[in-house]
Formats: sequence, structure tokens, C-alpha cells
Amino acid sequence: MPDGRHPDGPTEKCGVVGVSLDERDAARPLYYALYALQHRGQESAGIVTHDGFQQHSHVEMGLVGDAFEAEDLETLKGATGVGHVRYPTAGSVNSSCAQPFSVSFKSGSLGLSHNGNLVNTAELREELAASGHAFTSDGDTEVIAHELARNLLEADLIRAVKRTMNRIHGSYSLTIAHDDTVLGVRDPQGNRPLCIGELDDGYILASESAAIDVLDGELVRDVRPGELVVLEGDGAGFDSYQLVERDNTAHCFFEHVYFARPDSRIDGQLVYDVRRELGRQLWVESGVESDVVLPVPDSGRAFASGYAEAAQAEGAEVSFAEGLMKNRYVGRTFIMPTQDARERAVRLKLNPIRDVVEGKTVTVIDDSIVRGTTSTQLVELLRDVGAEEVHMRIGAPPIVAPCYMGIDMASREELIAAGCETDAIREDIDADSLAYLSIDAVAEALDSTRADLCLGCVTGEYPYDIQGESTDRDVIRPDIGDAAGDTGVAGSDD
Ligand code: 5GP
Ligand code: MG
Repeated sequence: MPDGRHPDGPTEKCGVVGVSLDERDAARPLYYALYALQHRGQESAGIVTHDGFQQHSHVEMGLVGDAFEAEDLETLKGATGVGHVRYPTAGSVNSSCAQPFSVSFKSGSLGLSHNGNLVNTAELREELAASGHAFTSDGDTEVIAHELARNLLEADLIRAVKRTMNRIHGSYSLTIAHDDTVLGVRDPQGNRPLCIGELDDGYILASESAAIDVLDGELVRDVRPGELVVLEGDGAGFDSYQLVERDNTAHCFFEHVYFARPDSRIDGQLVYDVRRELGRQLWVESGVESDVVLPVPDSGRAFASGYAEAAQAEGAEVSFAEGLMKNRYVGRTFIMPTQDARERAVRLKLNPIRDVVEGKTVTVIDDSIVRGTTSTQLVELLRDVGAEEVHMRIGAPPIVAPCYMGIDMASREELIAAGCETDAIREDIDADSLAYLSIDAVAEALDSTRADLCLGCVTGEYPYDIQGESTDRDVIRPDIGDAAGDTGVAGSDD
């Protein structure tokens, strides 16, 4: 595979947005919304707008703030458009995968933003290529665009989207600009988030509700799994079409655990509340007496405050302290090629406050363990500054398998919990004790059941047919360790 990626091309964890306004140009609100979604992707940022039948596009590598100059926004004319931020992938940076993907064809032009990952890309690409479609990237988004373009030549918009949904398999939240109509589509199992918001003078579709907040809009609701939402051209409202129905959903639990901003509401729940509840359950399941509870900033914070609160409510004499300070300017630890470099980066990124820790027994709370780099380093650091005992508590179950649904996980061999018992991991990271949260506690905190969640990375069983996906891709997980925090984006979770 080119640069070691799995057969279906790059897998992306991204942010998407779409806007339809009454008169004002859509570029600014799209730009601000992308800022709010920056934690979902820092590799590239792009906006496509439509001004009548004229399409304008600006897509560039880098952060939102760097990708657009004021003049760029001026050229993005039109009251409708879509935007995208793309998650960085390891290996070569490929600008042909930057989005929105735009294409013009006989019956109009399309701009398309995708978050998720198809599992039948190769098959569709072959078919489309055989019927004359030329591809410029190896990504799955372009396949969706061509498939939709082809269907639009033969059917009206709604039918064309339905046909496309019946052909593409996998996870997708899409925002699409088709001439001056803006569409939102969520895959039939609702793997990735997508919601609808009302603005003063129009409507917005976005991966997360935090993007609606920053525009002073109101969250209307989540887009339903299998639903097509069509924003009216003049920003006056939207229409809904339930195009595909399934018995089960497959919402990604990891959105709540790590990816989404805590101030976003996803599938009816505030992420912050979910994380606090996961923290409380962590205490219920595996609470350990200690002098202090320390969150790993920033992603462990809400978990740790829930954990400490539950402990104190039961009379445990434990204090909650910010004993680890984070340097927000340290770059992407996970994209670093060597383990040595990653360890150095963790050391630069997290510094313990000796006075909080010295002579104390401490419980460290993080949201997840992937390779184990962060926890191994932290345990050592805390012992170095005089912690008497170090207990690790993790707000998610052990990550034992890669993700094929749109999150670039490390390959199976790199996952510290793959094929390993918790006690062996505890020994590896050299903690006095280690406990993860159970899968059932996650399902309960999400008001859901195992059957309605995508738990692939913690069970190795996937709700989508991943045949044809290599079962052990050698994707290097990109910039983990605090995606948004590292880039200094205010307000995002690490
Ligand atoms: P580890 O150091 O064990 O390999 O990774 C765990 C740390 O990475 C945790 O602090 C967690 O917050 C963070 N993390 C977990 N998953 C992801 C991810 O998919 N992307 C990024 N950027 N960070 C992650
Ligand atoms: Mg973290």
C-alpha cells in the first residue's frame, strides 16, 4: 500500500460543516465553525461555496487559522457552502485528500465533506473507473462524490442520495453542497456524529454542536441515522427524508470518551456529562483510596472530577488536584516516528508539580490508553517527584483492536492492551494498580446498549462488514496525545 495505509485508503477522523443562509455570504460562518471543529482535524482545512451555479473553493494544508487569509474568505462568494477539517494521518501528507472534494459534472457541481470511512471503496472505485470516472486521490470521499454525481444524472436529488446510500457501506457523516442546495447525510447506523442548528438567518449542519454555539445558534437536533437533511436555499428551514432504516445504531463510543469536545451534545447527550458519569462509574467499579486524584490534562479532566466527586460522596478522604501541567505548544506526539521521540515529547508536554505529589499516594485518571506511552511516562515521572504509590484509572475499556470506522488507531501490535491482561499492562507501565472501565458501564453512561454502539476497538467485533480491510493495518496512529491541545486551540479537549 502506498505509505503503508490500508487498502481503502486513508482513514480520517474529521470535522464537517454545511451552511445555508438567507443573504449573507456563508464563508465567515463556515470558517468560524471550522475553528470550533479544529480538534477533529489539523492536517487541512477547506471551504467550498456556491454562488448560483458558480462554485468557489479554497482548501489548504494546515490549521484553519493558517489556511485562510481574509482575502480567501472574500473570494468565497455565496450564501451556501460546506467546510471540512481533516485529521492528520501518518506518513506522507497528501493534499489530494484534503477536502471538501469538489467536482463539476453535466448536471451541476458538488462540494463534499466526509467524516468516516467506507469499507467498500476499492470495489466501488473499480466499478466507477470502468464506467469512465477518473480519480485524483485514493480516498473514499472521491468515490462518494463520483457515485453521487453518477446517480444525479439519472435521478432527482433525493433518489440519487438514496441510491448512493445503498451503494456505499461503512461510516459516513456528509455535508454536501449541490449547486446552492446544502445536504447533510448520516450513515444508516449513525457511526459518526452530525447535527442541525438554527442560526439567525439560516441553518447549519455540523459534526458537533460546539460549532453551532460559536455562531450563537441553537442546536435543533442530531441528524438521524439513515436520514437526509436538505437545507432550503434561502435559509428558511430544512426538509428531512428518512432514506434508510436499520434496527440497530452503531454510534462510536470513543467520540464521547475522547474525540468530541466536552461542550458538544452528541446523540442527545452532553459529552461533558457523559465523561463525568464515566468517571463516577470508574470509582464505583474500581475506586482505590489515595491522597490525591490527578487528571491527565486535558482529556482526563472530566473523568477525574466525576471520579473524585463519587469518592468524596462516599466519604473517601481524597483531594482533587491539578498536579500535572501541560505545555500546549508541544507538537504531535503520536506522529513521531520513534518511541524515543514520543517519550521525550510526553516529558516535554506533561510536568508534575512536586509539591502536590511528594509523599502522597496518587490516583491518575486518563480517558484511554493506546500504546501506553503516556501512562508509562507518567508513572515514572510521578515516582521521580516523590509519589509513594501511583494508581492508574482509565475512563474507557482496554483498546484491543484497530478502528476501521474513521479513527486512525495504532496497528494491533502497537496497542498495549491487545492480547494482554490488565495485570500484565500494569506491570508494563509499572503502576501500583491499574483498572479500566467496563464496557457495560460505557453502554449505561451512554443510555445505550452494546448492540447500539460501535465497540470495535474494545471488542474487535465491528458493526460494519470490514471484509477486504486488512485485519492488521500498519497505520501509525497520527497525532494522538492531545490533538487539539497541542495545536494550542483554545477550548478544545486535548
Ligand atoms: P498512549 O500514550 O497510551 O499511547 O495514548 C493515550 C493518550 O492519548 C491519552 O492521554 C488519550 O487522551 C490520548 N488519545 C487517545 N486516543 C487518541 C486519538 O485518537 N487521538 C489523539 N490525538 N489522542 C488520543
Ligand atoms: Mg490525553
